[in-house]
Amino acid sequence: MAGFRSLARQVRDPGCDTALRRYSLRKCLERFAPYGHRATWHHLCRRHRFGPEDRELDPRRLVAALEELEEARAVWLAYEKEFAARRRREKHEGLRRPGALDDWHRRTWGGNGVARCDDPALHPSEPLAVVLRRLIAALESGPGERCPVCSGPRIEWRPDLENEPWFGPVCGDCGVVVPRAVLTSGALARARGEAFPRLASVA
Ligand SMILES: [Zn+2]
Repeated sequence: MAGFRSLARQVRDPGCDTALRRYSLRKCLERFAPYGHRATWHHLCRRHRFGPEDRELDPRRLVAALEELEEARAVWLAYEKEFAARRRREKHEGLRRPGALDDWHRRTWGGNGVARCDDPALHPSEPLAVVLRRLIAALESGPGERCPVCSGPRIEWRPDLENEPWFGPVCGDCGVVVPRAVLTSGALARARGEAFPRLASVA
């Protein structure tokens, strides 16, 4: 099975025909696809203006899409490396991480579905690396109230996701499945629609 880098070489190879170069780009997404395979493909097609059946496709667009993917992959691999090193230190010191963060890491190891978008047509429109940097910043700074990617307040609990984790909080604005570890228990409860006793406001 070809690795990401050899597939990337094929995408860049002017000696390959354009259909093969496009196919190789798509295969790259089997190695690294932050939104999941279909949503990441949809994102790259839209951002770099090519269609799945585009016969007059300018291969430079494929290369630009590949560059976007590679930049995001570099961001992610650096994070994974740092995470693994930190994890070893913590284990050594007998520290435990919250289970929710571990679960999420186990699922996304390698970079697939890091910011999974359940609906392939609904995903953030910013470059992938920007989205991943925001997500990583949220993972490192601890739980918050809003979407870690778009800062949207509409987090909805979805019981019927197409992929693992099968259910969980999804941003109603940008469409990413939000790792539970980056949401406070209050934000998770609100997403589930649970009524939380409100503190009397001192207006
Ligand atoms: Zn969002």
